Amino acid sequence: MAEKAYKYRVYPNKKQKELIQKTFGCTRFVYNYYLSKRKEMYENNKITFTYNMCSKDLTQLKKKFEWLKEPDKDSLQKCLKDLDMAYQKFFKEHTGYPKFKSKKNRYQSYRTSYTKTTAGGNIMFLDKHIKLPKLGLVKTRDKQIPQGRILNATILQEPNGHYYCSLCCTDIEFEQLPKTNQNIGLDLGLVDFAILSDGTKIKNPRFYEKSEEKLAKLQRELSRKTIGTNRWNKARIKVANLQKHISNQRNDFLQKLTTEIVRIYDVIAIEDLDVKSMKKTDSTIRNKRVGDVSWSEFRRMLTYKTQWYGKKLSVINRYYPSSQTCHYCGHRDGKKSEDIRFWICPKCNSELDRDINAAINILNEGLRIINV
Ligand SMILES: [Zn+2]
Repeated sequence: MAEKAYKYRVYPNKKQKELIQKTFGCTRFVYNYYLSKRKEMYENNKITFTYNMCSKDLTQLKKKFEWLKEPDKDSLQKCLKDLDMAYQKFFKEHTGYPKFKSKKNRYQSYRTSYTKTTAGGNIMFLDKHIKLPKLGLVKTRDKQIPQGRILNATILQEPNGHYYCSLCCTDIEFEQLPKTNQNIGLDLGLVDFAILSDGTKIKNPRFYEKSEEKLAKLQRELSRKTIGTNRWNKARIKVANLQKHISNQRNDFLQKLTTEIVRIYDVIAIEDLDVKSMKKTDSTIRNKRVGDVSWSEFRRMLTYKTQWYGKKLSVINRYYPSSQTCHYCGHRDGKKSEDIRFWICPKCNSELDRDINAAINILNEGLRIINV
């Protein structure tokens, strides 16, 4: 069943803000406490301190530190789960060792799960309010009504100080979009955001580059202020607001584009791009642009939207030679550097636009693997 997260800007009152901040602090403390404990246990006794062991131990810890009893108790359990997930990821995917959470991180959050109560549930969306454990009714102005069944709520604060509540819901029935019998291949680029197999080129809006000068100016102003002062905080919020503005622009662009693509096409084929390794190996300019075009976010949106609306996303292998193969005759030519925009197939003499040719190959390969 389809899942969806509904994000609300919320306006907690003074007391609620205090409790939210305390909960951020407590979950961070518990996370870090068990991270160092796990580390220590492993290094000294070769014992893997599992989730269940942590969970049992937490009961003892709460007796020792009374203040841990004040926040929502499920949020503490959830951060043990998060810690466990970080370890699983580390073991399976060999990503970095789990890191300690810092108080200085301007993104703070905690998660808590839904339970049924006689009053209808500990988390509920009510008109103009969201009911949350321990906090009670927190004000919101957003009017979107969450569909399906609430699984959990995440309460977060962004760098500019705004509070949000994200409700993750499941069992949502989405109305399926009508089939159009049209399929498309997409080649993601740097010059253009994407090139479609029908020849359409979607411009890269480059929101970051457009605001770069202004952002640099604000950052310079911030660096001249004394850390911790009122003026410093005002300057910091200006920077955070501009960063938020850029990310909103980017998000709107990606939302509109992915909705449009999913509406028009039944099968959407894309390449499995390794953004991480691209970032590592290339120059700073390219690096900035890769970040700016937000391919991974684009793919994430296409993934859930195709699931919601009954369409298909076909992701092809990143080693498939989409830009080297002539889509007319299938001839595989040598590697082509980024600056070669056109080439002529030595076998069938077709003139090929690098990106459109690649997009057509991506479409054909995408359709092939779907039919296998
Ligand atoms: Zn050819």
